Amino acid sequence: MKTVKLVADTKAIISKYKAEGKSVGFVPTMGALHAGHLSLTEQSVKDNDITIVSIFVNPTQFNNPNDLKSYPRCIDEDLDKLSKFSPDIIFIPEVEEMYPEPDTRIFNFGNLDQIMEGKNRPGHFNGVAQVVSKLFDIINPDNAYFGQKDFQQVAVIKQMVKDLKLSVNIVPCPIIREKDGLAMSSRNTLLNDEQRKNASKISETLFKARNLVPKLNVIQLKDWVVKEINKNPYLSVEYFEIVDDTHLNQIKNWDEDNIKIGCITVQVGNIRLIDNVTF
Ligand code: AMP
Repeated sequence: MKTVKLVADTKAIISKYKAEGKSVGFVPTMGALHAGHLSLTEQSVKDNDITIVSIFVNPTQFNNPNDLKSYPRCIDEDLDKLSKFSPDIIFIPEVEEMYPEPDTRIFNFGNLDQIMEGKNRPGHFNGVAQVVSKLFDIINPDNAYFGQKDFQQVAVIKQMVKDLKLSVNIVPCPIIREKDGLAMSSRNTLLNDEQRKNASKISETLFKARNLVPKLNVIQLKDWVVKEINKNPYLSVEYFEIVDDTHLNQIKNWDEDNIKIGCITVQVGNIRLIDNVTF
């Protein structure tokens, strides 16, 4: 496992692998790694000859400066955790290395970017597209691994790959959860003990909601989920939407012929946690 900081070095190493005909898998992360990130790494190591993991807290995807400042950073622990899965390269660039000039590109994702995380974090997905497209350009992966926990992000990245006519294959991976059901997130480390204990109510409610289909219609179910979570004094629902898995259009009836995903964001103190469940 080799740590590389410079874009030019990373490109040189990868073009050597590519010239040898090796397949390259890529796992982009912002660090503070947990079993969710490691599951993507494990999958990539299984599927590809070479695996590259990037650790980069991308400033352009944070619309809230305090969120960027408080984002957990622990490179030494991250490298230690990764070493157990034997990826080949860990790419850890500085901000100036990724953005020698400000990135002024504006992406248009239509509806994909106008609801849920896109609506509540203006500019977030534009920043994600900026950094992921730069990383794809540097790494030129055959396969790139993304967690379904960030379900809307997967839809946006797939769209970006289509729009830019990139040849990378996007591989969505299942949500990894804590024992009590809470979706793993780097942000969970920012919760205090009481907040952490109560945060499990989010996934618990989503799983219960599944059993209420089709007894409750879509509007009733959305209402039930929001009320149920908001009953808990530690939790405040920012949004809960049920959308189709490709265009992210709102579901109106359970009998629509599509895959239905219930996506939620909950504020726990000033920490935002996201989760989703398939109906
Ligand atoms: P992040 O470091 O939060 O940007 O996440 C890096 C990648 O790990 C993204 O593709 C996330 O969707 C994925 N990821 C984060 N949490 C989980 C989880 N609990 N289960 C599976 N994948 C995850």
